[in-house]
Amino acid sequence: MGQLIQATCSCSYKEDFYIGSGLLSSNLQIAKTMVDENTLDQMEKWLEINELKNVKAEYFLASCGTCGNITSMPQVTLFSQDIVKEFKSSCDCGTNYHILEDVFKKCTPCPVCKENLHFEKTGSWD
Ligand SMILES: [Zn+2]
Ligand SMILES: [Zn+2]
Repeated sequence: MGQLIQATCSCSYKEDFYIGSGLLSSNLQIAKTMVDENTLDQMEKWLEINELKNVKAEYFLASCGTCGNITSMPQVTLFSQDIVKEFKSSCDCGTNYHILEDVFKKCTPCPVCKENLHFEKTGSWD
């Protein structure tokens, strides 16, 4: 089950993020719809040469070190007999996202004004 998190800032920035995984997180077709085109391409290529045993798809709260964008970053992990490969989408600006851990304890700057964001769990999804 996934979680819904809301980020708010005193500058009126307000955004909802999905994190974790839903009920269909081990479904390849669903996983394919989560990632961007570039990542999907890499996944298809991997699937051509590896025999898929398992899929895990989940969302992480992540930020871009270049433009400060914050997003629910999809990460798809594909498992074959002996290989585990992670696929992550990157930011529109071309930088890889880094995953934000412990946003309730650590400071995360607002993408608009750079003040610290306030995070709150607002619900769950599946
Ligand atoms: Zn960026
Ligand atoms: Zn702000």
